[in-house]
Amino acid sequence: MKCICVGRNYGAHAKELNNAIPEEPMLFLKPQTALLKDNKPFYMPEWTHDLHYELEVVLRVCKQGKYIDEKFAHKYYDEVTVGIDFTARDLQAQQKAKGMPWEIAKAFDNSAVVGTMRKTSDLGKNTGFDFHLLLNGKEVQHGLTDDMIFPISKVISYASQFFTLQAGDLIYTGTPAGVGAVQIGDRLEGFLEGEKLFDCEIK
Ligand code: MG
Repeated sequence: MKCICVGRNYGAHAKELNNAIPEEPMLFLKPQTALLKDNKPFYMPEWTHDLHYELEVVLRVCKQGKYIDEKFAHKYYDEVTVGIDFTARDLQAQQKAKGMPWEIAKAFDNSAVVGTMRKTSDLGKNTGFDFHLLLNGKEVQHGLTDDMIFPISKVISYASQFFTLQAGDLIYTGTPAGVGAVQIGDRLEGFLEGEKLFDCEIK
């Protein structure tokens, strides 16, 4: 499996990092070794001094697809949760400055926290999600997927031109404003539609 991730998909977040609003979805991948599931703790790596949380709505792909039309995109996922796209912001800034790929800053082990999945059929919808993140009990991010620059249907259609979607793949749909650094001892709790779906301690 793979994680397909979208960068800069909320205007306010692109702005807070002084990035331009993209004209097409900006994609990157994380490998299976990036997954951090079942509320396991995250162990701070020694090679970053600026590890950021990015809360994102995460979709689970339910069937194989290639060149998916936007109007059929909703048929390719049936579960949703929230997760964290952990980012070593210091390494990312170095890579960006050199014009180099981001993988070491984004796709490292345990960089993709994923919460408990919820069936879209149980939620009664497959878009229009409300999600938020608590850092040590205080809300630091709150998003609505309706505010995405590129909606879920566009992300799936665009990504599937380049990467065949396979059942079990995850799609990280981008983070709203409010990203920030975590320290050892912090606790991150992610909520979708008011329900807590992950609880991650930084160790
Ligand atoms: Mg992200």
